[in-house]
Amino acid sequence: MSKLPFVTKEQLDEIIKEFPTPFHLYDEKGIRENAKALKEAFAWNKGFKEYFAVKATPNPFLINILREYGCGCDCSSYTELMLSEAIGAVGEDIMFSSNATPAEEFAYANKLGAIINLDDFTHINFLEETIGHIPETISCRYNPGGLFQISNDIMDNPGDAKYGMTTEQIFEAFKVLKAKGAKNFGIHSFLASNTVTNEYYPILAKMLFELAVKLQEETGAHVAFINLSGGIGIPYRPEQTPNDIKVIGEGVRKAYEEVLVPAGMGDVAIYTELGRYMMGPYGCLVTKVVHEKHTHKEYIGCDACAVNLMRPAMYGAYHHITVMGKENEPCDHKYDITGSLCENNDKFAIDRMLPKIDKGDILVIHDTGAHGFAMGYNYNGKLKSAEVLLCQDGTAKLIRRAETPKDYFATFDCFEEFKEKL
Ligand SMILES: *Cc1c(COP(=O)(O)O)cnc(C)c1O
Repeated sequence: MSKLPFVTKEQLDEIIKEFPTPFHLYDEKGIRENAKALKEAFAWNKGFKEYFAVKATPNPFLINILREYGCGCDCSSYTELMLSEAIGAVGEDIMFSSNATPAEEFAYANKLGAIINLDDFTHINFLEETIGHIPETISCRYNPGGLFQISNDIMDNPGDAKYGMTTEQIFEAFKVLKAKGAKNFGIHSFLASNTVTNEYYPILAKMLFELAVKLQEETGAHVAFINLSGGIGIPYRPEQTPNDIKVIGEGVRKAYEEVLVPAGMGDVAIYTELGRYMMGPYGCLVTKVVHEKHTHKEYIGCDACAVNLMRPAMYGAYHHITVMGKENEPCDHKYDITGSLCENNDKFAIDRMLPKIDKGDILVIHDTGAHGFAMGYNYNGKLKSAEVLLCQDGTAKLIRRAETPKDYFATFDCFEEFKEKL
């Protein structure tokens, strides 16, 4: 099965003349079409809103594209809040879903009028002490524990996750928050990551809708929204079948009509906080082959490394690789594709069957649009790459420059003599 890049070799050859490798390239057209399809799939719900998970791709140019489709920002840190404020996403355009939250972040989120999603029961008092009151609109994160299963398939292990409140705690939290003046309540839950099945959201939705009905009945709190959070996955592997967002939207609608509508709760808004699904397939890492090495294995060394894309090193994650211009050649060579870190997990692929690779070849590493650049780090003094947008008209635009050594050393303000020698 083939999985082709969103950019052609001819386009890429031109882009590389202007922007040296490595860089992350994003596909404006793909981002737009996908955002539009999500909006349409949930158009049946009057209050629907996607809060893009800023951590996945914290680039204001890209998030501004999503803003055109009505998306807000899901933030979980101080700088993510700053980014949102700077692009004009404030008030109820921000969902602040954080955990182990520092006081100054609650204070800032409150100043911006963000919807605050409490990760823990003890955060009620912590928030009240920090900002002096409980906001009228408030959300609680739920974690039922146990395993999240679809028939016999274990999707994830919420019982092992640090997030959210237990069932008992969320009932108590609603009562306490109501007594402290909260009027509009939200329920949030994120129980499985990167799900490549149309069933995850509908099953999660049904469970949260049933919880919402009970919460409203038992506590009298008005449930205004239910946040299905992130977790819709993408097909990293060529043999995987992509999710169908229309089918997912209809599945959630069915649960809504079965559970919420009969309970007189047909006005509840559905929120999502997708990251990977919104951007993952619409980014790739472009890198040049600079070495080949024949020892106990066949190695291809490229000019990108794990600091540009950490997922393979961190999770053993699969990212498809296309050798540009060799799409139709047989995959009859077995390679480890490596970066230059002094760390043996710095491999984008291990024992991958690919066409014969030569020095100077350009590799496209697929599906880096979410949790790609964003997870970057500076180990070995490596610098973060540029980000480039392939615009709808076929032109390329720099949307973040590459780091320079000056950026890397910028925090040694306190060592004047050292800085002078750089
Ligand atoms: C990471 C995260 C998301 C986005 O997750 P994806 O897997 O990218 O969809 C959404 N909400 C919260 C609170 C998160 O931590």
